[in-house]
Amino acid sequence: MDEGSKGNRIFLEKPANWICGFDGSEALRTDAPVDVKCSLPVGGDIEYWGQRYSIPGVITLEGKVYGDRSCLVADIALTVAASVPCARCLDETPLDISRKFRYFYKPLPGSEPKEGEAGEYTVLVETLDTCIDITDQIWESLIVSLPEKVVCSEDCSGLCPFCGANRNREDCGCSEGPVDPRLEKLAGLRDAINETGENIPGKGGNQIGHTKKQDVS
Ligand SMILES: [Zn+2]
Ligand SMILES: [Zn+2]
Repeated sequence: MDEGSKGNRIFLEKPANWICGFDGSEALRTDAPVDVKCSLPVGGDIEYWGQRYSIPGVITLEGKVYGDRSCLVADIALTVAASVPCARCLDETPLDISRKFRYFYKPLPGSEPKEGEAGEYTVLVETLDTCIDITDQIWESLIVSLPEKVVCSEDCSGLCPFCGANRNREDCGCSEGPVDPRLEKLAGLRDAINETGENIPGKGGNQIGHTKKQDVS
């Protein structure tokens, strides 16, 4: 945890105060699915993809756990209101995240993943007959739900590569002339985005994020 430029807390890993899980014993005792419901506070920024996702409130989790002694299945829906800088103009842009995820909880021993078996969503636990913490899986699901690139509008005109003005708000009138060297890189990035489309993994505007904010203001 760290202090951000806006004074927000920055989370690079799961907040330490998160508590959410299910009672495995209860799920094993009954045939009916056991409800999981929790609300996990963030109140800060999550840094990922080279940009900051602000989450002022809580993450809501709702779902069910069912299964037997060989495997308990957790089906959970995650929803959270966040915001992130627009990939083109850097304006803070609201973002509603909602995602369903499923994890399989299997007891050790006897559940060692077999060759070729995808273990990505399987969590091995000492026993299912206890309270099982799922906060690591919630964090993982949240992180993979964060979109790499968000634009405030499909029509967003972005920043002027010459003077850095927000072209959604002002017509700065720049058309030609030497590019400010501090903005040259930004212009290059913008051109690369325009040429390659918006959603190329590992490319694109996610680096525009906060590196340029200081330069252009
Ligand atoms: Zn924008
Ligand atoms: Zn301009």
